[in-house]
Amino acid sequence: MKKTFSHLIQDVQEQGKCNHCGGCVTFCSAVNYGALDIDENGKPCFSNIDKCLECGLCYSICPQTNELDEEIKQNAKWQEPLGNIIGISITRAKDNEIRQNGTDGGVVTAVLTHLFDSGRIDGAVVSRNTWHGRIPCLAKTKQEIINSAGSHFNSSQGMVQFAREYSTFSPSIKALSELRFNSLDRLAFVGTPCQIIAIRKMQALHIVPSDSIAICFGLFCSGNFFFNDTLFKNLEKEYQFQYDDIEKINIKDDFIFSLSSGKQIHIPVDKLAPVKRSACNFCKDFSAEYADISFGGLGAENGWTTAITRTSIGKAVFAAALEKVLVSYRVEDNPKYVTQAEKKIFAASERKKQLAQQNLADRETSGIRVIS
Ligand SMILES: Cc1cc2nc3c(=O)[nH]c(=O)nc-3n(C[C@H](O)[C@H](O)[C@H](O)COP(=O)(O)OP(=O)(O)OC[C@H]3O[C@@H](n4cnc5c(N)ncnc54)[C@H](O)[C@@H]3O)c2cc1C
Ligand code: SF4
Ligand code: SF4
Ligand code: SF4
Repeated sequence: MKKTFSHLIQDVQEQGKCNHCGGCVTFCSAVNYGALDIDENGKPCFSNIDKCLECGLCYSICPQTNELDEEIKQNAKWQEPLGNIIGISITRAKDNEIRQNGTDGGVVTAVLTHLFDSGRIDGAVVSRNTWHGRIPCLAKTKQEIINSAGSHFNSSQGMVQFAREYSTFSPSIKALSELRFNSLDRLAFVGTPCQIIAIRKMQALHIVPSDSIAICFGLFCSGNFFFNDTLFKNLEKEYQFQYDDIEKINIKDDFIFSLSSGKQIHIPVDKLAPVKRSACNFCKDFSAEYADISFGGLGAENGWTTAITRTSIGKAVFAAALEKVLVSYRVEDNPKYVTQAEKKIFAASERKKQLAQQNLADRETSGIRVIS
């Protein structure tokens, strides 16, 4: 018997493992008949169970089930301990505007714009920053790609009128549903490791429109976090800063608020465990092991991005971008920079895998059921 959405509720949602990626709802075979919906908390649910075709697709593509694990490993030439690694580089964007707006070195945006300018993609699934958090978007122009870089706050948006809440989460897979109404057939997808796994599962099953995704850019990921007013108040008090002064948010070794004064507030990620999405406690992928290229700030100095090329397409795309739109970190400035970056990524990945293992074991023994 095929496992259906009822099993997803039991095996994923009730175990606190649903990361709200939206893959099940977006690609449900009965999407046009209204079998599934998303509730007010962003959690997929049955809207009409009788419309479910019991095809099993939602269960297979969910990044939190073990289905298709072997297929995606084989397709990605995955190997221990961190997936396939062709090369590690530290670079930043040549373009000043992209670099200024970038989360780290603006490398993701620079490579995307290079792909767009050279006609290799028609658009990209990215995510725009807002005062409340990130919103997925299907960027169809170069400017839309540039506008989605970084996590800056524009004070002209008038933040005071908004509640003090912020989420790092972007349900980017949902942006793919827009493809039904667009004729874009060569897209780049930017997302967290779990989202890249969901895309790889869809590609393993040749589910439309995953075949339109020409390249996957994965972001290193320690987790998704939800800040509310109470948390902001506590952090303001403890770290002596004002919410209104936050200019930029980033996650690297720590969670980092860059303030308008130029000061940076570093908050250890462990300290934010209470506001981390439950599913992230069971996640074993830090470095986007199934991406074509993975990007993060870890291992690089401020203003630079670490990139791991993992597939032949990723290698070719990155090499072409390096010639035109990227600047490499100078070996003379630190001859050991690649080894140091590799060690840090390895350590962060190991930590995440061990934590997930421990949390899974604790869950098994406690038998607690959580609806996330
Ligand atoms: C939730 C989250 C956790 C992260 N944790 C770490 C970490 O622990 N350590 C680390 O080194 N790096 C982490 N990163 C990656 C890091 O923040 C940068 O995204 C990365 O270094 C690329 O920087 P850049 O300047 O080259 O990219 P940019 O040129 O700024 O481009 C970033 C791209 O990512 C897209 N994007 C941003 N946020 C999201 C999101 N939530 N979902 C999908 N797409 C998004 C943007 O639309 C843009 O296209 C994390 C990113 C996210 C989103
Ligand atoms: S129709 Fe298929 S994909 Fe949709 S909920 Fe039912 S089993 Fe899942
Ligand atoms: S993790 Fe994604 S695919 Fe799995 S149940 Fe949650 S929203 Fe659906
Ligand atoms: S830690 Fe990151 S990759 Fe893992 S489930 Fe959370 S958001 Fe997804």
